[in-house]
Amino acid sequence: MKGKFYMGLDVGGSKISAALVDTKGQMSLLRRQSTPPDGKLAQELLIEMGQGLQEHADAGGATIVGVGMGFGGPVDYPSQRVRRSHHTEGWDINLPLAQTVGEQLGLPTRIDNDANTAALGEALFGAGKGKERILYINVGTGIGGALVRNQQIYHGAHSNAGEIGHCIVQKDGPECACGHRGCLEALASGTAMGQAAVRALEENPDIETSLKNVPREEITGELVGDMAVEGDELCRRIVAEAADWLALAAANACNLWDPDAVIIGGGVSSTGETLMEPLRESFRRYATSPQNEETDLYIARLGYDAGVIGAAALALTTL
Ligand SMILES: [Zn+2]
Repeated sequence: MKGKFYMGLDVGGSKISAALVDTKGQMSLLRRQSTPPDGKLAQELLIEMGQGLQEHADAGGATIVGVGMGFGGPVDYPSQRVRRSHHTEGWDINLPLAQTVGEQLGLPTRIDNDANTAALGEALFGAGKGKERILYINVGTGIGGALVRNQQIYHGAHSNAGEIGHCIVQKDGPECACGHRGCLEALASGTAMGQAAVRALEENPDIETSLKNVPREEITGELVGDMAVEGDELCRRIVAEAADWLALAAANACNLWDPDAVIIGGGVSSTGETLMEPLRESFRRYATSPQNEETDLYIARLGYDAGVIGAAALALTTL
């Protein structure tokens, strides 16, 4: 391997991914490891994985221009510090993670929240390629979001812009992890979809569904999504209901931001058209003219690799 590469490091709650990515978004030397259940150990592992990639690059005569990191928790972008981690113990508040990793690897390093980096990955190399303004919605266990313009993340005054998951779409609705009620996340996240399935089974034990024989604690949003794709009627209804809430929030956001495209990423992207068909239909209903006709809605294209490719894209666009 020769030429210029950017190192992407993606720090999620369950996995840390590392790879080298070229200027066209092609990945090489992808490595994945489980995230240690302690922040200190996770930092050591990150540096070790980075050094491993450096050795391979050196041996092959490749140049690593810089490092981009995506972190699964809030990041203060101007100070390049991790505010805290929702996932594991041992992450200091206001941790200068980019600085620590950069010093250890001897490379310029940038860090951002992982929804922002995934959005950047999609904007440069995925479903948003060629689009100037993008609203990205990441639907996994929670809901994150990002605004990208001209291949740059718009961070806002408090590094909190694009956090569509905590837009309140139902007054006095179900409680959200953030303490408010009726947030989009509490109604349309993977967690919410799993809970909706369990509720439906409790309310109507005779309902026809392949979830019937699954232990309640194993009913997750991911499972509901998979079963919906396979045609399970209850699961399709739950996914369509989530799609409707997502469309409502997206339509409202489009009135403010007026993007060229809305991209839905995260774990839910594996449901493809099962989600997107009802989502487009609801969006056409909720959005104002001309966005209702002209704003494009896409499912993310980079799948599980969006995190690590997007992290590298952060280095590519800012270093
Ligand atoms: Zn919330």
